[in-house]
Amino acid sequence: MLRFVLGLGLLALVFFPVLARAWGPSGHRIVAQLAEQRLSPAAHAQVQRLLAPTADRSLADVATWADDLRDDRSQRALWRATSTLHFVNFTSPGCHYDPPRDCPDGRCVVSAIKTYARILGDRSRSDWERAVALRFVVHFIADAHQPLHAGYRHDRGGNRYQVQLNGRGTHLHAVWDTPVLASRLLGWHAYAAELARTPLPVARGTPAQWAEESCRATRDDNIYPRDHQIDAAYLARMRPLAEQRVREAAARLAELLNRELGRR
Ligand SMILES: [Zn+2]
Repeated sequence: MLRFVLGLGLLALVFFPVLARAWGPSGHRIVAQLAEQRLSPAAHAQVQRLLAPTADRSLADVATWADDLRDDRSQRALWRATSTLHFVNFTSPGCHYDPPRDCPDGRCVVSAIKTYARILGDRSRSDWERAVALRFVVHFIADAHQPLHAGYRHDRGGNRYQVQLNGRGTHLHAVWDTPVLASRLLGWHAYAAELARTPLPVARGTPAQWAEESCRATRDDNIYPRDHQIDAAYLARMRPLAEQRVREAAARLAELLNRELGRR
């Protein structure tokens, strides 16, 4: 009975999600948690050192910070300066990343990952700057792997593709932010433990290629439901792809942190 009631509560979460930005908090924390388990001892020590002045103790603790800026009045300027760095929009029908066209002035997630990775690995920078860069890198690598964060410009990555989810109107981007992963009915900690049972894929590619993969997924993997209806079958069908993207993001985040922070 308790299981049933808990299940109902979780179902309510699945079908009436807070419309989040980017992977919802769970997706971001799962990516961060999986990555942290893959850090070298040297990189892990550097992460701990950079986080030490704050109350945060793990990558999962800081994984949603870049989104949380939006709701923090004291951080309005930083949010405004970084809000376009959570995504990249491609020009249809291809998925070829062309920086001048797709990322003018470096204002997209591909460029942001490179910029903040560079700051993170630059020992001439202050620890404060590098700690901020760490927070952005952890967040933006996950965002780049949410397929609709690197989708097409014409519908703003699914934000203009209206769908019905359990009788309520929403848009496809929001469905991919939270309900697809939430349909597994696991808290983020348990979800990360579940995904950790299988070794993460080998990290490969560049931020531009990660975004191109996301774009191709939105084009080729039937992410867009023709009838605009999101039901349990759709969520179950899409979840393996979402989990694959989470696992790829984690492997690549860990590899980047080991590279930028693992040097003596
Ligand atoms: Zn985001």
